[in-house]
Amino acid sequence: MSGASERFGGSFTQQEPIPEEAIEAAIAVMRSGRLHRYNTDDGEVAALEREFAAYTGAKYALAVASGGYAMGAALRAVGVKPGDKVLTNAFTLAPVPGAIAGVGAVPIFVGVTEGLTIDLDDLEAKAGEARVLLLSHMRGHLADMDRLMQICDAADLAIIEDCAHTMGAAWRGRMSGRDGLVGCYSVQTYKHMNAGEGGLLVTDDDDVAARAILLSGSYMLYARHGTVPPEAAFERAKFVTPNVSGRMDNLRAAILRPQLRRLESQCEAWNARYRTVEEGLQNTPGLTVINRPVGETYVGSSIQFLLLDWPGAKVGEVLTRCAARGVQLKWFGGAEPEGFTSRYDSWHYAPSERMPASDRVLRGTIDMRLPLTFSLDDCALIARIIRAEVGAVWQSMDS
Ligand SMILES: *Cc1c(COP(=O)(O)O)cnc(C)c1O
Repeated sequence: MSGASERFGGSFTQQEPIPEEAIEAAIAVMRSGRLHRYNTDDGEVAALEREFAAYTGAKYALAVASGGYAMGAALRAVGVKPGDKVLTNAFTLAPVPGAIAGVGAVPIFVGVTEGLTIDLDDLEAKAGEARVLLLSHMRGHLADMDRLMQICDAADLAIIEDCAHTMGAAWRGRMSGRDGLVGCYSVQTYKHMNAGEGGLLVTDDDDVAARAILLSGSYMLYARHGTVPPEAAFERAKFVTPNVSGRMDNLRAAILRPQLRRLESQCEAWNARYRTVEEGLQNTPGLTVINRPVGETYVGSSIQFLLLDWPGAKVGEVLTRCAARGVQLKWFGGAEPEGFTSRYDSWHYAPSERMPASDRVLRGTIDMRLPLTFSLDDCALIARIIRAEVGAVWQSMDS
């Protein structure tokens, strides 16, 4: 047992600084005055698109204003119309159902398993209700993508992947975002690359790429993109696709390109932190560590565990006690959304039916960020604190 007096003093919201090389590139863009992507023939945004397409192995990449924008553009580009139903995860964050509602479509929520992935049995049961699945790899947990693809192929469901937490992850060696028709990524501060705000979208489909480029606000300057579909695809789309401006600018792209070059080592650094916390939490009575499937290459930029079937008041006690020792945990079971958390039933604009098995999982889901400013010693300390406080509350429940 370690001392109950140990306290963690770090900040769960503190990111690493932007790399010097990226700062230099950003200054050069500012000195040029050419911040708008079409103010240059082949500027930073176009270069980022080429490099991200190469990184993911996609034919096309498009840089946009946010991850939420990427999902909205993807939904429009694959043909989702107002009133259409779109399947999506019950366990996800607000921008996901928000992107669906943003195009006037209606989210149909699919349940979550104890592994925190989409419930494939529930997906199979609901597959006939929609033409599109907006699949959120929430908190970096990848479902069995082989079975998921079988279900979607059989039901003729197009997949848009929300890879906000899986940039750099893979399923049996296939990069996250490449199984679906479109993969969407966020480069908002809390994701795996930090531009403050921003998003990326990848696809191999000529028409989806052309429509997404036009949607993003390319005017008739689409030929200046980093990865350009054939002119015929633009001919089919250019007079029927609205301009819904959501471009990325050269400044953000300049900050991102050096980060993309070091993404792999960043992912390793996250995983070292993840494994340290995970190891420290193993075999804590009352606490369920999430089993990661063998096919999954994950990026542990956050960690989750379950306090399954705990009374809400006791979960609250754990959170309060951990917070008093400097460890900020988020609870996805809270009655009201707080900070970044939310529950499917808190999105009143998208009515849903109760999913008891999912509710049980969500009531027990605890989440914690692992910023790279934490050392491995920090992570071990955090795990000791959680272990001690979960243990103390668990014992009080026993007696
Ligand atoms: C952050 C996030 C997004 C996209 O967010 P933006 O803030 O719009 O870039 C999408 N899905 C999930 C699960 C996220 O956490």
